[in-house]
Amino acid sequence: MTIVSLPQHPVPGNSARPPMSGAAELDWQSSLRHAVRDAAELCRILQLTPSIVDGSNEATGQFPVFVPPHYLSLIERRNADDPLLRQVLPIAAESATIAGFSADPLGENHVHLGHGMLQKYAGRALMVLSGACAVHCRYCFRRHFPYSEAAATPAQWEQTLAQIAADTTLHEVLLSGGDPLMLPDRQLSELTSRLAEIQHLRRLRIHSRLPIVIPQRVTDQLIDLLSASRLVPWFVVHANHPRELDAVTGAALGRLVDAGIPVLNQAVLLRGVNDHVDTLAELCERLVDLRVTPYYLHQLDRVAGAAHFEVPIDEGRLIIRQLQERLPGYAVPRYVQEIPGAASKLPVG
Ligand SMILES: *Cc1c(COP(=O)(O)O)cnc(C)c1O
Ligand code: SF4
Repeated sequence: MTIVSLPQHPVPGNSARPPMSGAAELDWQSSLRHAVRDAAELCRILQLTPSIVDGSNEATGQFPVFVPPHYLSLIERRNADDPLLRQVLPIAAESATIAGFSADPLGENHVHLGHGMLQKYAGRALMVLSGACAVHCRYCFRRHFPYSEAAATPAQWEQTLAQIAADTTLHEVLLSGGDPLMLPDRQLSELTSRLAEIQHLRRLRIHSRLPIVIPQRVTDQLIDLLSASRLVPWFVVHANHPRELDAVTGAALGRLVDAGIPVLNQAVLLRGVNDHVDTLAELCERLVDLRVTPYYLHQLDRVAGAAHFEVPIDEGRLIIRQLQERLPGYAVPRYVQEIPGAASKLPVG
């Protein structure tokens, strides 16, 4: 097994970071149980004044704070502008109503094929396996998604499997959510075996942020079940900032790649998080050092409550051009935008 050692990234006030104690020893399910679920608690741990939080924000009722211990350990203390904190802390700007930002910007409520399944593009269908996530990202376009109605339970898989089996144009199934790795390995194993019985399927793709926020989720059992399948597994993770790729996460990604599973990363271009060429260049370099390919850089979906994260497209284009001048071609992600009704994610050109 390759031991991945990352160059230490100097962080101002590094000594003020919360101690790592505990986070690394927890298994993934305990990590979920120990997640911080309250903005005031998050501020107390990080030694921030709670006044930066909008506690009365109704969005927190629907989409509350959720930060697991590993991710928490990467956030700098006493820094209200920390780019990792910004992704998880609800602030007053979330409750602003901004023209053009809506609850369902992608029109996903209308493209359901049936329970727990979504198909927008040729050849691949997406299964919504879980409404839950291991972290609540404030910019998420699914923050208003009707998950409780959308996620298929194992009892409802039969219907989805029958639909996939009936459509021979499908070559790939994407497991998504929410986060599909919120399901225990036993259930994933069962689903993977059932999908492998469908002869026209070739690949199984997993879209998950869990390897980044709870790297312990990359269990040997998970790797074994993916490696053993007839279907070729592909993995897409989601990291937005180079500091999300510490040594522990790097080792988890390394275990996937060592098992022969291709790993791609998608990021979202976010104001105050990664809207600078130096930050994105470092993110992409760390990814390729870990043998993870930067796949997409998404223009923010215009979801209500996330307007303060938006970076204008002109600015995004400029950053991408600067990245192209600095990095090898394979290290530059495709800058894309999702337009409802389009046949693919569209390059921002
Ligand atoms: C993004 C997405 C995919 C995957 O698109 P690729 O370009 O193949 O990565 C598939 N289905 C749905 C519904 C999606 O939103
Ligand atoms: S993990 Fe993904 S789906 Fe879940 S809140 Fe974050 S961006 Fe959204």
